[in-house]
Amino acid sequence: MIIDILKETGALLQGHFLLSSGKHSDGYVQCAQVLMHPEKAEIAVGKIVEKLGNLEFDIVVGPAMGGVIVSYELARQTGKPSIFVEREDGEMTLRRGFKIEKGQKVLITEDVVTTGKSAYEAIKVVEDHGGIVVAIASIVNRSSGDIKYPLYSAVKVDLNTYEKENCPMCKDGSKAIKPGSRKIKA
Ligand code: ZN
Repeated sequence: MIIDILKETGALLQGHFLLSSGKHSDGYVQCAQVLMHPEKAEIAVGKIVEKLGNLEFDIVVGPAMGGVIVSYELARQTGKPSIFVEREDGEMTLRRGFKIEKGQKVLITEDVVTTGKSAYEAIKVVEDHGGIVVAIASIVNRSSGDIKYPLYSAVKVDLNTYEKENCPMCKDGSKAIKPGSRKIKA
């Protein structure tokens, strides 16, 4: 089970977290903890590939940083090329001589999809170059089911999120911490 891989690698954290959206949550997924182990990355991405089935695509594109390793591993398993988009002066862009041809079918990759924000930014770059996005693929689906493209994920993870004012953990007197800002017990 992919969820077991998240747990045993310490990618799935429990605690009281301040998310970049400003909301508080009782857990956090740090996919880098899975991807640092190539053999676990292979299994997790293999699960996505299994779900993709016969979906046709020509190239895999991941937004840096989160999507890069997933894109590479997914491309490796499916025999496609893998490129990435990255920020330059705050704007997602194609660099390093990477190209997307007009009409090319593109699979977008992410480690975790929550709101889809960075996937959408990557999609805009792809579409600006005339590419056709066929789907988004991610290790973890944290979305509330409102992603505007087909989403293929190795595992769905549901965490409780709260507005600060309604956060039960705050009410209990604990303080929300930013994920990664200090050592947290899994
Ligand atoms: Zn809180």
